[in-house]
Amino acid sequence: MNEKYLVINAGSSSLKFSLYEMPEEKEIVNGYVERIGNEGSCYSLKYNGNKIQKEKLIMSHVEAVQIMLQELLQNNFISDLSDIKGVGHRVLHGAEKYSDSVIIDDSVLNDIVSLTELGPLHHPGQIDGIKAMQECLPGVPQVAVYDTAFHQTMPIENYLYATPYEWYEKDGVRKYGFHGTSHKYITETMKEHYGTDNVNLIICHLGSGASMCCVKNGKSIDTTMGFTPLAGLIMGTRSGDIDPSIIPYIMKKQNKTINEVIDDLNKKSGLLGIASKNDFRDICAMANNGNTNAQLAFTKFKKSVVKQIADYYFQLNGKVDAIIFTAGIGENTPSIREAIVNEISNPMNIKLNKESNNNIASFKEQKSGKISTNESSTDVLVIPTNEELMIALDTYRLSKENNKDNNKTKVYK
Ligand code: ADP
Repeated sequence: MNEKYLVINAGSSSLKFSLYEMPEEKEIVNGYVERIGNEGSCYSLKYNGNKIQKEKLIMSHVEAVQIMLQELLQNNFISDLSDIKGVGHRVLHGAEKYSDSVIIDDSVLNDIVSLTELGPLHHPGQIDGIKAMQECLPGVPQVAVYDTAFHQTMPIENYLYATPYEWYEKDGVRKYGFHGTSHKYITETMKEHYGTDNVNLIICHLGSGASMCCVKNGKSIDTTMGFTPLAGLIMGTRSGDIDPSIIPYIMKKQNKTINEVIDDLNKKSGLLGIASKNDFRDICAMANNGNTNAQLAFTKFKKSVVKQIADYYFQLNGKVDAIIFTAGIGENTPSIREAIVNEISNPMNIKLNKESNNNIASFKEQKSGKISTNESSTDVLVIPTNEELMIALDTYRLSKENNKDNNKTKVYK
């Protein structure tokens, strides 16, 4: 039987989707609807090296979903809407309540709505996406896959800030961590790779948004992002960790509101702040041409990762099975991988296999593999992340369970 599962990543004015055939784990088509509710809205679908691209006025998420479903039908990716057995939604914040993905019922949706205060930039669009899918595919299980869920295994000494304890108890101020779907995907891949659940890993998810995760016995015990995705490593446009006293100081100095300063920290800082470019390819090209600010951005980015590797190496008591590079920068930039590995080479007894490192890039033949020598004490690997597949897997698992439960109810009635 044809079982298809949709993966939805909805933003305030966009909707990304992928259609998977399960359990084959095969992505059949993916697409992107842009500028929902604005002039110039358009959408595209990609499959088997082909691309469909159309401009159309799309006023709401419901319209975006209707168009997506129409295209899936017209192009025979599905023969009937009933082919779709489940829909998985990327949701930013599950707070402390959700340590796994979950079937969305009224109370889960209410929780996602009330957690908007912890994810003000992401939740409104994600809620629109869920409601639109519920309206267009009634009766089909909808699953929430939280970016925070994988990190719910962190011990309190790692997630608690040294702020007044009531900030945590009353207002939920703590480290939550994000990119959990990616860190979970890499962890599952490494469990398979080593044939055991008890893997100890240092995962470097280096993309525009960047975070690292310390995995002990297959579980997240620490991560770099915090209460929000602004914390931790230097990122494309985000500052990462800074002294919070800078905020009132700049408000006063530059006559800015708190929102303006937070906006600067989210959108005008990081690589962009230091070198005027947020794309790592530009940073590398400029650095190679002698631009000193780009060189500084490269070095600071490298150092922020190396510092964290050192921290996690000690948290794992030196027992690290692998350091993994993933996401846009991690997968595609041999020079940053080389620079990072060179810094940890002596203390961790790791040697880079330069040839493997230079051959791994998504635009080259090889997309994943080991970049450390066999003599190294710890493996260093490049593994392309696949958050969509992770969402499809959770959606498949929970939709199946849900259908089984519903069938059981029917039998006992
Ligand atoms: P996000 O998902 O957070 O938007 P990505 O994982 O897509 O981020 O990573 C984007 C970053 O990856 C950009 O800085 C970009 O420069 C870098 N990147 C993407 N593709 C390549 C490539 N082929 N070569 C070098 N860097 C790349």
